Amino acid sequence: MVRVAEEWFAVCGGCEVSILDIGEPLLDLLPSLEFVHMPVLMDHKLFGQTGEKKHMEIPEADVGIVTGSIRNQENKELAEEMRRKCKIIISLGSCANFGGIPALGNMYNNGDIFDIAYRKTASTEAGDNPSQGLPALTDRVYSVNEVIKVDVSIPGCPPTPEWIAGALTALLQGKSFSLPERSVCDDCPTVREKKAKVAIRRPLQAPEFTPGRYDNMRCMNEQGILCLGPATRTGCGGSEKTPRCIKAYMPCRGCFGPIRAGANPMVDMMGALSSVGLDPKQIEDRMATFNRFIGAGRLRPMPTR
Ligand code: SF4
Ligand code: SF4
Ligand code: SF4
Repeated sequence: MVRVAEEWFAVCGGCEVSILDIGEPLLDLLPSLEFVHMPVLMDHKLFGQTGEKKHMEIPEADVGIVTGSIRNQENKELAEEMRRKCKIIISLGSCANFGGIPALGNMYNNGDIFDIAYRKTASTEAGDNPSQGLPALTDRVYSVNEVIKVDVSIPGCPPTPEWIAGALTALLQGKSFSLPERSVCDDCPTVREKKAKVAIRRPLQAPEFTPGRYDNMRCMNEQGILCLGPATRTGCGGSEKTPRCIKAYMPCRGCFGPIRAGANPMVDMMGALSSVGLDPKQIEDRMATFNRFIGAGRLRPMPTR
């Protein structure tokens, strides 16, 4: 029996839903798994069932699954406790692996974030920063692997259930698990003519497509609808291959992160857009757009104008 612990940090909960979305294959895995800690499913208190312990404690486990980015001191301590107690750590989802959407906050310093949230928004009645009983924010949003060693990474927002099942099955069989080092474009069936028809358009404008036929739709970038497929790791389509957003006639927004470690998606996207005759300078807010899911360690507070 493999003991599994799961913890969530700065999250929306979608990664946990993806675990449930594994569906029937999860039933095959369950007899081999014993969940010893999982806040979304079990009432297991971090400081003991009656709050009697002084330090957070997670039971020992063979596999630890962590979701979410590190946004406050409690997230950081929990991540360290997971690392101490779990033999293998799986970081699940784009927040855990790259900071995800919460890391867009790295474009502001904490003081500005509190000002916007508690004082400077038109609909907000100005007040003090909350402080009592809350963990302090970290200086910025961190991905989990910036804080602890991670053994297996499964990206995606949310991650593909098939990959979660694949990683767990590989671990149970003592095999290694790795991600493809190819781009979303490599698995995209759209038609490419290597030349954009129009300049970059507003992202909310609908692409031209034949209902039910994403395979004869023109490439989104060539239609002037910004698609981050050229700089994003493929895999979201699972065994069917066709990327998830393309199937929904939507452009890729980059949630699977860079194609390989050390890649620079911003530079890759500038090259891909220029190669079809588009001007990347037309994209407003390029830093946030190209780093939407991967801002931990990449995005910094913007200089004050
Ligand atoms: S990766 Fe996406 S689905 Fe998972 S916690 Fe982050 S925002 Fe939610
Ligand atoms: S840019 Fe987008 S639409 Fe075009 S081939 Fe790549 S993934 Fe497909
Ligand atoms: S197409 Fe891009 S944004 Fe959509 S699920 Fe796949 S990697 Fe994520």
